[in-house]
Amino acid sequence: MPARNILVINCGSSSIKFALVNEAQATFPLQGLAECIGTAEAVIHFESAAGKESVKVPNADHQAALAQILPRVEDAAGGHLDGIGHRVVHGGEKFFASTLLTDETLASIEANIQLAPLHNPANLSGIHAAINLFPELPQVGVFDTAFHQTMPPHAYRYAIPGFLYEEHGVRRYGFHGTSLRFVSRRAAEMTGLPVENSGWLVAHLGNGCSTCAVQNGESRDTSMGLTPLEGLVMGTRSGDVDPSLHYFLNRTLGWDLAKIDNLLNKESGLKGLSGLSNDMRTLADARNAGHPGAVLAFEVFCYRLAKSLAAMSCGLDSLDGLVFTGGIGENSAAVRQRTLGHLKLLGFKLDDAANARCTRGVSGEIQAEGSRRILVVPTNEERQIALDTLALLDA
Ligand code: AMP
Repeated sequence: MPARNILVINCGSSSIKFALVNEAQATFPLQGLAECIGTAEAVIHFESAAGKESVKVPNADHQAALAQILPRVEDAAGGHLDGIGHRVVHGGEKFFASTLLTDETLASIEANIQLAPLHNPANLSGIHAAINLFPELPQVGVFDTAFHQTMPPHAYRYAIPGFLYEEHGVRRYGFHGTSLRFVSRRAAEMTGLPVENSGWLVAHLGNGCSTCAVQNGESRDTSMGLTPLEGLVMGTRSGDVDPSLHYFLNRTLGWDLAKIDNLLNKESGLKGLSGLSNDMRTLADARNAGHPGAVLAFEVFCYRLAKSLAAMSCGLDSLDGLVFTGGIGENSAAVRQRTLGHLKLLGFKLDDAANARCTRGVSGEIQAEGSRRILVVPTNEERQIALDTLALLDA
């Protein structure tokens, strides 16, 4: 059988990220991003071994943009596409694994819209467009939340009256599951430990950040909750704050809920603390130059991350090591060093030279002798979505 090709699609409200994954090739034959969808500035960027190209598609909606993308994908796939894998943000309690998209499963994703009012409708518009364009191809939904459906109630319930969970689904769901699943399996592979008998702390640190306790290949706890706002300091998200902050800001400043929600999601985190940027690269340079806001943002980010990892250890039966991933986790030796400085009591000690070596896609173990394992593992959500799609095709 020739190596199969899967198209992976991640639809946002005004964007489509896509990648063609060939099961036998380490790099993607074609990938790209459509931006500003639905506006006069709509544009699609394509990237392949042949180079980069941008094509303007003014006022294209999701379907029109996908209609431009698909012929190039088919071409790059040698005329043979085997399936399409879609990232879906929220699967609620219904989806504990990736699933074939049928009328029934699509109705269940629709039913979860109130849990992810910004993300799920965008994911669905991509799915419907792809089904319209390729009705004969199998399509698969891969959920950010599914990996965390193994959390026990003591990790996922909030201490609020039960009817809010039972009647309205208010509980902790967690996100980044596709990445956390991919890197925890890679960590086991890299160290020769069996996935089904291993315990890992994982830190996914990108624009969004979360930690996870992965025992025997299953999520036991994670730092994000009902929404991705809970937990760590992120690029523009505050992470945990006192829940009474809403009432305080309303009472003292007269702010309404929409303004407070915007503040906590878009104006806080690294950006709010530093007063400079949400981008860790910019902050690293500014910190080196002594910018007080950048210094503070870096310190709070690392301390809160360490605190969260220590808390996650409560979810594990055994601890084989700590895994860093995501743009910051894979590249910032300084963040890893500062964070681990707070975690000596868990038995982590860094090898500075190995730490400095692991950037820009270089993976490896970075602990000093006598320390528990510390790994840098580049994530690859597209590859994991394609693997899930292939597994469902085989089934
Ligand atoms: P992601 O969402 O996984 O693409 O990660 C984005 C974050 O990774 C941003 O905060 C970037 O500043 C950060 N990042 C990427 N490269 C580096 C680097 N070399 N050093 C520090 N942070 C980086």
